[in-house]
Amino acid sequence: YFAGLARLAGDRGAHLYDQTTGTGIERRQPGGFIVKTPRGQIAARDVLLATNGYSDGLVPSIRRRIIPIGSYIIATEPLSADRARSAIPNRRMLFDSKNLLYYWRLSSDNRMLFGGRASFAPTTTATARDWLYAAMIRVHPQLAGIMVEHAWGGNVGFTFDRLPHIGRVEGITYALGYCGTGVAMATYFGQLAADWIAGGELPGCWHRAFPSLPLYRETPWFLPAVGWYYAALDRL
Ligand SMILES: Cc1cc2nc3c(=O)[nH]c(=O)nc-3n(C[C@H](O)[C@H](O)[C@H](O)COP(=O)(O)OP(=O)(O)OC[C@H]3O[C@@H](n4cnc5c(N)ncnc54)[C@H](O)[C@@H]3O)c2cc1C
Repeated sequence: YFAGLARLAGDRGAHLYDQTTGTGIERRQPGGFIVKTPRGQIAARDVLLATNGYSDGLVPSIRRRIIPIGSYIIATEPLSADRARSAIPNRRMLFDSKNLLYYWRLSSDNRMLFGGRASFAPTTTATARDWLYAAMIRVHPQLAGIMVEHAWGGNVGFTFDRLPHIGRVEGITYALGYCGTGVAMATYFGQLAADWIAGGELPGCWHRAFPSLPLYRETPWFLPAVGWYYAALDRL
């Protein structure tokens, strides 16, 4: 999906520079911005900040409003047709309603893709893999003994009201905070942001306060306690 978006952007004339960290944004007179990177500077009329769960100190007021939380997935070896059918008979995509939820489905080559969060505290992919495997077996005991061939993870960007946000701070447009479900939503927000930057109006429903928490600067010190709280709620 991402490769397709990148290709479409390239086809429309966008210049894409990956592996290039924005290290500073300065306002330019009489208007516009200079974005500093280790590879040079970019002069721009507008800047769109779409850093979601990887938001760093580039725009500190945004960093204070985004909570990075790890999410992880395992992919098993391909299952036999019988075992795949017994786990998910109609090949539906599944997720549960817990706060620390699981989400899972079969791939086209019959691997079980099983994802979720072990906790809100930082963890490693190896720890998350073992934890997800145990969780998968609890949900589908018939998969016991199946090998896990791949495990990966990344950051999702949570907000204090568990809603995504689009807005402007110091003239910089931002669109982020998808709380773990940004594949479709980030694409929609990208369109909203592009229309807004091009001179259109941002629909009124998106003009909302973007909450933060006192004393939150860079380290989400509250996450272990919050994770424990939500895990306890999930057990009720
Ligand atoms: C394991 C996992 C499973 C997921 N499953 C689903 C799912 O099933 N459905 C769903 O809807 N969502 C899912 N998500 C969430 C989804 O991936 C995100 O919501 C989505 O990627 C957000 O897109 P984005 O472009 O806003 O941010 P990202 O894709 O996170 O991209 C942000 C980018 O900003 C870059 N960046 C940060 N700081 C700087 C800087 N200073 N300079 C330059 N670049 C910077 C980062 O390197 C990163 O490339 C999942 C996430 C994970 C980790």
